Amino acid sequence: MKILLASSEVHPYSKTGGLADMVGALAKYLAQAGQKVGVVTPLYSGIREKFPALQPGNIRVRLPLGDRFVEAEIWTLEPVPNLTLYFVDQPDFYQRAALYQEGGRDYIDNAARFFFFSKVVAHLARTLPLRPDVVHTHDWQTGLVPLLIHHAAVQGAWRKAPRTCFTIHNQAFQGSFPWTDYPLTNLPWDYFTPHGVEFYGGLNCLKAGVVYSDLITTVSSRYAREITTEEFGCGLDGVLRNRQKSLLGILNGVDYDEWKTTGNPFLRHPYSLDNLAGKMENKTALQEEFGLPVTAEIPLFGTITRLAHQKGIDIQLNALEEMLASDMQFVLLGSGQPEFERGFRSLAGRHPGKAAVKIGYDHALSHRIEAACDFYLMPSKFEPCGLNQLYSLRYGTIPIVRATGGLDDSVTDATENIDAANGIKFYDYSARALAKAIRKALVLFEHPELLAHYRSNAMEADFSWERTAHEYINLYQRLQGGEWAVAY
Ligand code: ADP
Repeated sequence: MKILLASSEVHPYSKTGGLADMVGALAKYLAQAGQKVGVVTPLYSGIREKFPALQPGNIRVRLPLGDRFVEAEIWTLEPVPNLTLYFVDQPDFYQRAALYQEGGRDYIDNAARFFFFSKVVAHLARTLPLRPDVVHTHDWQTGLVPLLIHHAAVQGAWRKAPRTCFTIHNQAFQGSFPWTDYPLTNLPWDYFTPHGVEFYGGLNCLKAGVVYSDLITTVSSRYAREITTEEFGCGLDGVLRNRQKSLLGILNGVDYDEWKTTGNPFLRHPYSLDNLAGKMENKTALQEEFGLPVTAEIPLFGTITRLAHQKGIDIQLNALEEMLASDMQFVLLGSGQPEFERGFRSLAGRHPGKAAVKIGYDHALSHRIEAACDFYLMPSKFEPCGLNQLYSLRYGTIPIVRATGGLDDSVTDATENIDAANGIKFYDYSARALAKAIRKALVLFEHPELLAHYRSNAMEADFSWERTAHEYINLYQRLQGGEWAVAY
């Protein structure tokens, strides 16, 4: 089968979060399974320098964007057999300091940047020699693609239009723009209705993806159910309920070629379930790095995160304030909302020798933290899939999670199944419930045999991408077979 993926970020070329990890791994494992795969993504600053094998692809596009035409050159890279990346080089739009925003403010031309990107994707889907059977787009930045393909098909531009799949990685980011940006789509106003892309008077790109794609997926089964409810739907729960028969959840996998405890270039001390000495050495090294007292006797907790409301930062700060009175250490790597950055800095200031934070984004350090910690804290308010709890499991770092979305689907608490327990879950979204879960971890740490049981369940859990990629291949085959065809 031939599949064209499109995403505004793809690891290892660009990344702000889990979306990049997912699309990078999906592409790689689909190709490994013998599918022909293309990935369209913007050419951001620094990519060409980091990947000198990138070639100008002899493809130039010139597409309307409102009342002007915008040009782009497509650069290509074939990192592994069966996989081609198509980088959209439009320097005015994509050669910037960041992907979506600077100083906490979205770029003011994000509508133009990602409408143009979506147009390039739909154009390449029609003109590339790949001739994809399925076009699989991700999140609001590519939400217009299914509509653009639908519209071109209605206009007779395709002999056989590809089927479309749209994956929601986070319902909270919808790409909402004022109606005055709609002309940038160059689509007729017929689509700008409450049954189409209109949402409370504006244009909603996520809604476009939900309404016009044949199949909608999200990144865990529980989140697929949650987003059809008022609590998690962010206003689009009704639209999703209308499309419930075409909405499925598939849990993301982990790229175990990268997230591994042996042969990992980011870890100085390799270890495995049979030989955990290296884990202890990683703990010592991290305690030194963060200026914490070096000791094996005190449990080390860690968090690596975007500092945003979604991640439960408010309850985490309050729970830690209380729990840091106990014998425990905590390290944080994160960046995001300034008030949360300040909150963690001042927490560390009030608890020297107990809590240490690094504000920033650091991929190598994220591996070191996963490897060094005894416990990983992830108290999200909502979590479509979540990746760090999956990395923690593989690294033998017991995850403490709130039972929501993919966290609930991937972690097993002792109250659910003591034989399979690999983490600690709590339910209420409150500092009290989180503090209680941390207290359970402190007790677990005092019982080495029980901790070893949890650790071995965690490290043996299998969330490999081979499984996830095969689930997607199965869906693509069903799509090709005519299932879920969207009716207008
Ligand atoms: P989300 O996509 O909502 O941010 P996920 O758990 O799905 O959350 O994925 C987050 C990814 O981004 C993980 O790979 C995580 O390690 C990484 N990450 C988040 N913040 C940082 C940071 N400050 N430094 C390094 N990696 C980070």
